[in-house]
Amino acid sequence: MNIALIAHDAKKELMVQFCIAYCGILSRHNICATGTTGKMVAEATGLEIQRFLSGTQGGDQQIAARIGCDEIDLLLFFRDPLTAKTTEPNEMNMLRLCDVHNIPVATNIATGEVLIHGLERGDLDWRNIVNPHR
Ligand code: PGA
Repeated sequence: MNIALIAHDAKKELMVQFCIAYCGILSRHNICATGTTGKMVAEATGLEIQRFLSGTQGGDQQIAARIGCDEIDLLLFFRDPLTAKTTEPNEMNMLRLCDVHNIPVATNIATGEVLIHGLERGDLDWRNIVNPHR
C-alpha cells in the first residue's frame, strides 16, 4: 500500500511518536510524506520515505495530485486545528479528493490508530482489488 504522511508543525512530534510505535507495520508499505514531516520521521525511525516538497512549498499539492490519480491508499494527516494556515484551501481540496476516491484518511491520531490497525488486519486490502496495477 502507498501511505502518505503529513503533519502540521504542532503535530510533528506526535507523528514521529506514532511512526515509531507502528514502525513494524509501516516498514511493509511504501511511505511518502511532505518534506519536514518525512525528514523527521525518517531520522527517528530509519524508514525509507519518499519526500516531497515542504507543505508551504507545495508538498501537500504533490500528494494531492497522487490522491487525484488514486495512487495513495491511506493518508495520515495530523492537523493542528488551532492555528490558521495559508495552505488551508489546498488542504481542504486534498481532503475532498480523498472523498472523491474513497481513500481512507485520518486527520488525528485517534483515527490514525484505528486505520493502522485496520491496515494490519487487512481491512484495506480492497484497495488492491480496486487498483490491482499498484
Ligand atoms: P512539512 O509540511 O512536513 O514540510 O512541514 C506539512 C505542513 O504543511 O505543515
